[in-house]
Amino acid sequence: MFSKILIANRGEIACRIIKTARRMGVKTVAVYSDADAYALHVKMADEAIHIGPSPASDSYLKMDVIISAAKQSGAQAIHPGYGFLSENPEFAEKVADAGMVFIGPSADAIRMMGLKDQAKRLMEQANVPVVPGYHGDNQDVGFLAKEADKIGYPVLIKARAGGGGKGIRLAKNADEFAQALSSAQSEGKAIFGDGHVLIEKYIINPRHIEVQVFGDTHGNVVHLFERDCSMQRRHQKVIEEAPAPDMPQDVREAMTRAAVTAAKQIKYHSAGTIEFIVDGSGELRKDGFWFMEMNTRLQVEHPVTEAITGQDLVEWQLRVAYGEKLPLFQKEITMQGHAFESRIYAEAPSEDFKPSPGKLIALEFPRNARIDTGVESGDDISPYYDPMIAKITTYGATRAEALESMSESLDKTFCAGTSTNIGFLKRLANNEDFKSGNVDTGLIERNMNGLGNLPEPTLFDLFVAAIIGYRIDLTNPKLGWSLWQKPKLEFEFELEYADSPISFVIAIENNGIFKLQHGGACEAFSKVKIDKDVIHATIKGEMCTAHFLKNEGSIFVKSNTDLYEFKTPDPLDVAASAVGSSDQLIAPMTGTVTKLNVGVGDKISKEDPLIVLEAMKLENILKAPRDGIITEINCAQCDAVSEGAVLITFEKVAGEKEDE
Ligand code: ADP
Ligand code: ADP
Ligand code: MG
Repeated sequence: MFSKILIANRGEIACRIIKTARRMGVKTVAVYSDADAYALHVKMADEAIHIGPSPASDSYLKMDVIISAAKQSGAQAIHPGYGFLSENPEFAEKVADAGMVFIGPSADAIRMMGLKDQAKRLMEQANVPVVPGYHGDNQDVGFLAKEADKIGYPVLIKARAGGGGKGIRLAKNADEFAQALSSAQSEGKAIFGDGHVLIEKYIINPRHIEVQVFGDTHGNVVHLFERDCSMQRRHQKVIEEAPAPDMPQDVREAMTRAAVTAAKQIKYHSAGTIEFIVDGSGELRKDGFWFMEMNTRLQVEHPVTEAITGQDLVEWQLRVAYGEKLPLFQKEITMQGHAFESRIYAEAPSEDFKPSPGKLIALEFPRNARIDTGVESGDDISPYYDPMIAKITTYGATRAEALESMSESLDKTFCAGTSTNIGFLKRLANNEDFKSGNVDTGLIERNMNGLGNLPEPTLFDLFVAAIIGYRIDLTNPKLGWSLWQKPKLEFEFELEYADSPISFVIAIENNGIFKLQHGGACEAFSKVKIDKDVIHATIKGEMCTAHFLKNEGSIFVKSNTDLYEFKTPDPLDVAASAVGSSDQLIAPMTGTVTKLNVGVGDKISKEDPLIVLEAMKLENILKAPRDGIITEINCAQCDAVSEGAVLITFEKVAGEKEDE
């Protein structure tokens, strides 16, 4: 086996490759740009080499710089991961020319499959069914329009060099054709430097089902079953699964056979994926799937295949690149159970999935799922690269179990600091059609309203934010007020949410019940308990839990699916506003009186600082709620006082009007 490899990538995939290499005793060399100097993949690798400024074009796409880094480090092979240089035949050649091994297919195979039109022509020759359409060289607008008529609308126009869902346009009818064509052409030219297009019949009710293939340099090709990637948004995969739901065995056999034929046709070695578009309007049929394209690399969603087959595809890649035969014969490859993968992104679903780079204040994952990530708490999601935070893969004996486990895992994922699609994914995982396996590539778009909008925070979310943000101490079960006759224990709170203020009232009752009132709604919380970063409360007899985090002026609360960020007003004003306007000064929280500024008989004016109360390592200045004369003081310097305790009583200055 190789003794050292260089990984020409970053993020989760670089980390994932390092893990397998380490397990196999292979040393790893990471490369990094300026933005990634402290990235996880750099920390995990045995060595790391700086390759340039943050933009990918100045670092992760610099073939010569990466190749000399590899030579300098003594690496014998380069793994390109996915994206970046992974499907660049020139890079594969340069690696070989420099006397190293490219951990991936041959440059020729990449080239043959690199352009969708040429790939389809090749597949036709191998008798693999391709999507009906025009994939020739003639790019004359009038000619293409006639071809579209022949195919029959709706048609898809695809930039032949496209990828990642880019450069694809739908034309529903002849009127839309010219516009769709020019927009596919210009996107193809702008992103891939190639405006050449092909035209395909648009399959109605389509499902995207792909087959994982693997070849070695001895001419063996096997498949590792299929994945269903129909959960897409704008032609991009969101949640993938393996195997495909309701896949009849004869269709699976036909599809995997076609995929192996396709790979053999180009003498493929290493990991590859044959993507099929499938007619999902009824039962899947042997004559109802068509070759779309081949991805000549390790795929983002490979973990679902690993989960159901128990194989490590990166290990297979290293072995094949080293010249070994495939680890298993086809008949030895079996699958069991079901797996799902969700892609967690730093993006804002409510703002049309706008990328949301920034610092991850907290990032915590559940333990019962496979997590692939390249970041940790405190890291930045950089604006320079793909804003993926992590992939969560869950496994179950049945599809329902695996999906339920995904739904739970998404709930248990806590990510604060950037917007994420976690709530969106969770709603998707709970979608009835998805749950029943009734999938097609249009499902997300049809349900976008329900999936993409962030629901308003619940009263429980508000309650948790108030408890944490206002540091209401719950450690004393009696909360102190029982010492006093009917003290006023209704506090008004104001929090900022989504740039607007939210005000609500929390009433504390003698039996340890908190009642929150907001905009006509009311909820009672009992048995409220804080345990590290989790708060428990009983609501209508049911125990509810929320995960919270306080960071500077923000309180992040996640009580189930969505994370909400609240802000408190200046903490020093909090005490004053919580006390409200009465003729008593009440301790807004349990604490110690560190300063008493007044005595009985003193005349005070509204906003005068009367007491400094230290609570939870913070000094709170308790200000006079109104003008008055002090009649009674119930505390002394250094006294510990309980929340709700009446500290000072005063009366109105004679002759003054009520200023409520
Ligand atoms: P990319 O290289 O961007 O992945 P693909 O050719 O694989 O492009 O297509 C991306 C997605 O677009 C597919 O997963 C599928 O959802 C949709 N799609 C592609 N071709 C068709 C088609 N002929 N009919 C319906 N949907 C299609
Ligand atoms: P600081 O950052 O000032 O140390 P935090 O507000 O982060 O204070 O809280 C520190 C600890 O106190 C955390 O472990 C948290 O679980 C606990 N805690 C936070 N708010 C409360 C509260 N209202 N009552 C009891 N414990 C709390
Ligand atoms: Mg594709």
